[in-house]
Amino acid sequence: MPFADAHCHLYDRPRLEEEIARWRDAGLAWALCVSEDRATMEKTLRLKERHPDFIRAGLGLHPAEVTLRPEGVGGALAFMSAHLAEADMVGEAGLDFKYAATEEAREAQRAVLREQLAMAAGTGLGVNLHSRRAQREVLEAAQRFRTDAGLPALLHWFTHSSKLIARAAGAGVSVSAGPAVLYSDETLRVACSIPLQRLVLESDAPVPFSGVPAEPGQVPAVAEALARGHGLSVEALAGKIYANACGLLPRER
Ligand SMILES: [Zn+2]
Repeated sequence: MPFADAHCHLYDRPRLEEEIARWRDAGLAWALCVSEDRATMEKTLRLKERHPDFIRAGLGLHPAEVTLRPEGVGGALAFMSAHLAEADMVGEAGLDFKYAATEEAREAQRAVLREQLAMAAGTGLGVNLHSRRAQREVLEAAQRFRTDAGLPALLHWFTHSSKLIARAAGAGVSVSAGPAVLYSDETLRVACSIPLQRLVLESDAPVPFSGVPAEPGQVPAVAEALARGHGLSVEALAGKIYANACGLLPRER
């Protein structure tokens, strides 16, 4: 039964060819590589060109970039708009209020998020959303996107609150869980509240968990942990959720 990694950052990996072969052996069918700025958008498109059978491309401007490097916003959005036809999803987009200390900074992030949601709607793509310290607000944006555009929305690494997960799932918004469930019983407990029809897996590679850099090869272990929580075999869980990940991308639907 195949697995998919719905959110990772795979540029700048000198041994990617070998790694993809290893991840395929572990059961991964594809990985959605998201981007954060213009440079990583270009790299992600090149990765997809080189590995069209495994890499799916997310084009997006990360909210932290909007705050930390505002001079890059215009160029990044222009590049994105010109290349969205080559992408499989919009992302990583969203809000990150860890970096936005003022209302002005938060407004700038909101404006860029709105613009990316409009681009996704105009191109028929789903959105891969980041929501650090802004979970409720990004959830509401995702709900509106689902209602207005009728396209897929994923709240990535959204394993902090069962209550918000229930709201997301009720609105048809997908929620992903990643390697954090391998290191925290509390995170695993919350992740197990994601209804199976909305559950998607991710690695967020190469973000480190407990000092270990994450990679798509960990996705089957994440599935195993969640399967135990649901009282299912890993095969049964994978069989129930692989279609959820495919539903996020026009090419896999
Ligand atoms: Zn990420």
